[in-house]
Amino acid sequence: MTETPEKVQFSAESFRSGFVAILGKPNAGKSTLMNALVGGKVAIVSDKPQTTRDRIAGILSHADYQIVFLDTPGVIVPHDRFNEALMGRAADALDSVDVLYHLVDAADREPPNERLAELLGRARGCARFLVVNKTDAAGENALPPGVDPAAYDRTVRISALRETGLDELLAATLDRMKPGPLYYDPEQISDRDERFLAAEIVRERVFHNLGKEIPYAVFTETDAFEERPNGKDLIRVVIHVERESQKGIVIGERGAMLKRIGQEARAAIEELTGRPAYLELWVKVRKNWRRKEFDLDHFGFKLPMAGRGQGKGKA
Ligand code: GDP
Ligand code: MG
Repeated sequence: MTETPEKVQFSAESFRSGFVAILGKPNAGKSTLMNALVGGKVAIVSDKPQTTRDRIAGILSHADYQIVFLDTPGVIVPHDRFNEALMGRAADALDSVDVLYHLVDAADREPPNERLAELLGRARGCARFLVVNKTDAAGENALPPGVDPAAYDRTVRISALRETGLDELLAATLDRMKPGPLYYDPEQISDRDERFLAAEIVRERVFHNLGKEIPYAVFTETDAFEERPNGKDLIRVVIHVERESQKGIVIGERGAMLKRIGQEARAAIEELTGRPAYLELWVKVRKNWRRKEFDLDHFGFKLPMAGRGQGKGKA
């Protein structure tokens, strides 16, 4: 089920990885940019751009790095950096990305809208790039009103369509990537993200509802994920807890808590996939799992080398 063809040879020493959120008005060229970045360089599949809402827009894998591009920040950063997930900290998605692109259409005659401005203002923990697109049509120096390059860490002018400026953009982005693990299988199976995100959504809902009662002691995994074109997707997620008492808390009185978690998670999963889903939740007790060596593969991760540091927090 989780076999991983090792077609790309990963060099462990210098491996870097991270997340890029792409913000911009509709029509700024986000999808075009994503395709240009992900499509051309390395043969890596992006996650079903037509069927999903492009939350995970593209994964660019290379022998030395992996960059995950997201086109809807603030919603879901997959696995929110794992360590933070383990700490039960609901990291603000925007703070969890390494780089934020504000993509603008050079010929746009309107300033960025308020929502965009607010999101940009909130993003503190990441590098902020102003990416001026469509320079092929708008001319070399064109800039929309209300956009001040001085407010960004870097400005890169590109044409996503003609694929100019992309090398510079990529190099600048890589500069901001820290040593990190391979977050996704470089030969990613197309439904993998959704599987993984389904488990993450459930975990998030558990924390949301029960964060005080059972901090840290939960992890989730997707046990089954069947896409059924003419019906609802069948998704089964297992919630692992450490103790019987925690199992009781997660299930709640007459199953009320589990039902609530399930309803909330199902709605979020359906929003993510764009398809109706039937979500089944199981709660299992798995004693002392935290003290065991993590089998990261279990979570859908692969590390580029054994014993590699986890990036943040304790190694
Ligand atoms: P999104 O809504 O931000 O994802 O924008 P799209 O990627 O769908 O692009 C919107 C339109 O802008 C499409 O017609 C693209 O072909 C066009 N477009 C995107 N990038 C460029 C560019 O660099 N130059 C020009 N001339 N058109 C572009
Ligand atoms: Mg688009």
